[in-house]
Amino acid sequence: MNIANQCNDCLAITDKASNGNTFTQFTVKVNIGSGYAFYDGTQAPSLPPNYFDLASLMRHEFGHSLGLCHSNAAGLLMFTNLAQGQVYPIDNDAADGDAFIYNPSYNGPGPTGGCIP
Ligand SMILES: [Zn+2]
Repeated sequence: MNIANQCNDCLAITDKASNGNTFTQFTVKVNIGSGYAFYDGTQAPSLPPNYFDLASLMRHEFGHSLGLCHSNAAGLLMFTNLAQGQVYPIDNDAADGDAFIYNPSYNGPGPTGGCIP
């Protein structure tokens, strides 16, 4: 399987299966065949500037699996492109989106720079 052909040289892709409004399965595929360098935090104490943080990438893809789509604000976890050498924590935007989708008693804002399906 060539992930690069499926997502135009993306770092990763999340496939979701659903039954109505309920997600029943998701699969995260990381593109290791296009020369991207990934860093998992075990090689050295700090993230090299030319590497992508694998944990951040997985947080981003798990956000998709929860139903979040891409944010329009650079620097947020759910922005379209993660930058090399950057660590992306779960930010307020992603947390607001998660609460907006899954917590029926949540009365706070939705994702400020992001979106939900
Ligand atoms: Zn994405």
